[in-house]
Amino acid sequence: MELRKDPITRSWVIVGSEEESVRHSEGCPFCPGSPNMPQVISTLPANDHGGGPVMAMVHPSPLYRIEGEPQRRSEGIYDVMNTVGAHEVLVQSIRHDIELWQSTDAEISQFLLLAAHRIHDLKQDLRFKYVTMFKNYGSLSGQEFDHPLSQLTATTFVPRRVLYELRASRDYYADKERCVFCDTLNQEMRNPIRIVEAKGDYVSLCPFASRVPYEIWIMPRHHDASFERTVTSKTGNLAELSGMLRRTLQRVIAISESFHLVLHSVPNTYQKSNILQYWKTVDEDYHWHIEILPVVRAKAKPYFLKEVYFTPISSEAAAERLRTLAVR
Ligand SMILES: [Zn+2]
Ligand SMILES: [Zn+2]
Ligand SMILES: [Zn+2]
Repeated sequence: MELRKDPITRSWVIVGSEEESVRHSEGCPFCPGSPNMPQVISTLPANDHGGGPVMAMVHPSPLYRIEGEPQRRSEGIYDVMNTVGAHEVLVQSIRHDIELWQSTDAEISQFLLLAAHRIHDLKQDLRFKYVTMFKNYGSLSGQEFDHPLSQLTATTFVPRRVLYELRASRDYYADKERCVFCDTLNQEMRNPIRIVEAKGDYVSLCPFASRVPYEIWIMPRHHDASFERTVTSKTGNLAELSGMLRRTLQRVIAISESFHLVLHSVPNTYQKSNILQYWKTVDEDYHWHIEILPVVRAKAKPYFLKEVYFTPISSEAAAERLRTLAVR
């Protein structure tokens, strides 16, 4: 496997040798006592508040491998790198049948803390420019395992979508000296037609230009570029974030059987890249958030709709419906 960079769009593509699938036929590898359990990287034990043990493990068939150097090199005008990185599985619960939205605040908090610790740890490795946490749920999402879990990758490049956001936030800040996410939140709160829920320090909303029906974001109301800093700080209100995540996922799951969830946090600022130039103002101009994209059954689309997003449901209509759903 290798990483190739498209010289025009500047996105990195993983070019594989045919996927070697390491599927174990018997039993769930992530349930306690499994003989096929992957290597455990770290564990947060059960706590006094009712949070269960959570574990980070090496992904059984990783896209990136931790050993070696990226060896970024040219092939004529092209750029190529080795697929060096980390690919981990975050086991949210030792129970096979309890998903995040069925969990207590204490259990969700324990999982969020594990994610924050893993992101922080991986950022100490200066080879890595970005750490992504994501979750695929449901048959239409590419979910790989039945056990309730999320995944995490550390990469030697910043993924394309995040890079777009970082560049746009930097440009907005250079122009206005304000964070574009804070400005968006302030405007949305003044006329809350796209707000799904605002409670304490967190807000869930349907973005103005949603890419898919019922797209929903969770954002902290106080500015912070770094998820892991918010979650591990005393003022981060982890219980509030956990409750917001649980209720938001309950809403999503009432609408759609499958979804993608992705965390967008600040890149690795220990690793300063002269070419990207995002670090100078990144703590002021970027604002972490969680994006949840329900997956609707794919219909064949005419070509122009593959290059331009199209959603038949406006974010105002989506927010109105999501607000009325019963959650606990
Ligand atoms: Zn299991
Ligand atoms: Zn902000
Ligand atoms: Zn984002």
